[in-house]
Amino acid sequence: MTSKGWFTRACSILPGGVSSPVRAFKGVGGEPRIIARAEGAMLFDVEGRAYIDYVGSWGAMILGHAHPAVTEAIARAAGEGTSIGLCSPREVELAEEIRARVPAAQRVRFVNSGTEAVMSAIRLARAATGRAAILKFSGGYHGHADAMLVRAGSGAATLGLPDSPGVTPGSVRDTLTAAYNDEGAIADVFKSHDDRLAAVMVEPVAGNMGVVPPQPEFLTTLRRLCSAHGVLLIFDEVMTGFRVAQGGATARYGVEPDLITFGKIIGGGLPVAAYAGRAELMNLVAPGGPVYQAGTLSGNPLGMAAGLATLRELKTGKYEELEAASSRLADGLQQALARFRVRGCVQRVGSMLTVFFGLERVRNFTEAAATDHARFARFFHAMLDRGVHLPPSGYEAWFVSTAHDRAVIDRTLAAVDDAMAEAVRGTG
Ligand SMILES: *Cc1c(COP(=O)(O)O)cnc(C)c1O
Repeated sequence: MTSKGWFTRACSILPGGVSSPVRAFKGVGGEPRIIARAEGAMLFDVEGRAYIDYVGSWGAMILGHAHPAVTEAIARAAGEGTSIGLCSPREVELAEEIRARVPAAQRVRFVNSGTEAVMSAIRLARAATGRAAILKFSGGYHGHADAMLVRAGSGAATLGLPDSPGVTPGSVRDTLTAAYNDEGAIADVFKSHDDRLAAVMVEPVAGNMGVVPPQPEFLTTLRRLCSAHGVLLIFDEVMTGFRVAQGGATARYGVEPDLITFGKIIGGGLPVAAYAGRAELMNLVAPGGPVYQAGTLSGNPLGMAAGLATLRELKTGKYEELEAASSRLADGLQQALARFRVRGCVQRVGSMLTVFFGLERVRNFTEAAATDHARFARFFHAMLDRGVHLPPSGYEAWFVSTAHDRAVIDRTLAAVDDAMAEAVRGTG
């Protein structure tokens, strides 16, 4: 059956034909390719077409697909029971591997998705501070828990409004929003709400509006204000953890949060996430403390095995390889923009990057929204036609894996040249 045939069939049983919205290509038009199999840097659709993959399962697949160390670890674990629901060694080992790389993760609790990690960290922050309000940043994505599905109201720093039907005004009443990289707006929030504020939730490198690096003083300002006002700083490192450095953004920027959420890479492609942080905070979580949170499949042995195999493969040298491949890709993209006289920019931190059309710099969500998404859509399809599968939205990060060797990057850049010509010519 063709991709089209499968998608038609999918649409009659899965809402929108998908299990998660961005996969439906609404951001770029057209219909998704149905992927039968993935290996290394490549995807293969049901029609046997091959694509160089920059989705990387939204960042999880930092070693590329079906890495032998990971698949063997999963197979071995599967033979020993796919879920125990009791205490087992691998959860201890994976937590220790995490703490060895991220010392701020003094205690670790495993959950099953980034959404769940964020939701639980918020509950813990509220319990620890006895306060209710959470500050997040426009364009920051922290999963789909009700309290995080807010849209900014008018003004620089505002009370959020529900961003989805089904989210009640009550559940976002305590969520404040401010513009990313705007230290003035943050200072205002602290001035007017500091006695209500439990935590600041931030992607230390924004990746869910496209890649937007923190301005030099942004994270240190957050740290300083949080410490001064008794507010907890939560780094949502579901995307950046073990991605932007071996120790994640915490290591890369030298700023220590109180709580951290992880996901994506720590499961090596299986549904694993975690929240972690200072021992005295994490010890408030049940059964050590009164903050309830539980999970039938939490610490699942297959997920733990895949995460362990992934982290153990990610030695320091791998980050140098990722940096080299990613900067080669980013430089090539930048040169293509210049060669075709296309206004735009390539924003990159480590092995996550985004090409924005229409603006020379993107610092926050307002600017990300003002970029030329129609041109991105044309570029996306031109790349797809040439066997390169980018994330199907101009608001996403592209992910480079250790399987993206020099040959793969050079094949990508050859496609970029043709695709850029087409994106420039097209009118929509
Ligand atoms: C992906 C992501 C999440 C949500 O994780 P899920 O596993 O999809 O629930 C939360 N925060 C950030 C920063 C993410 O990138």
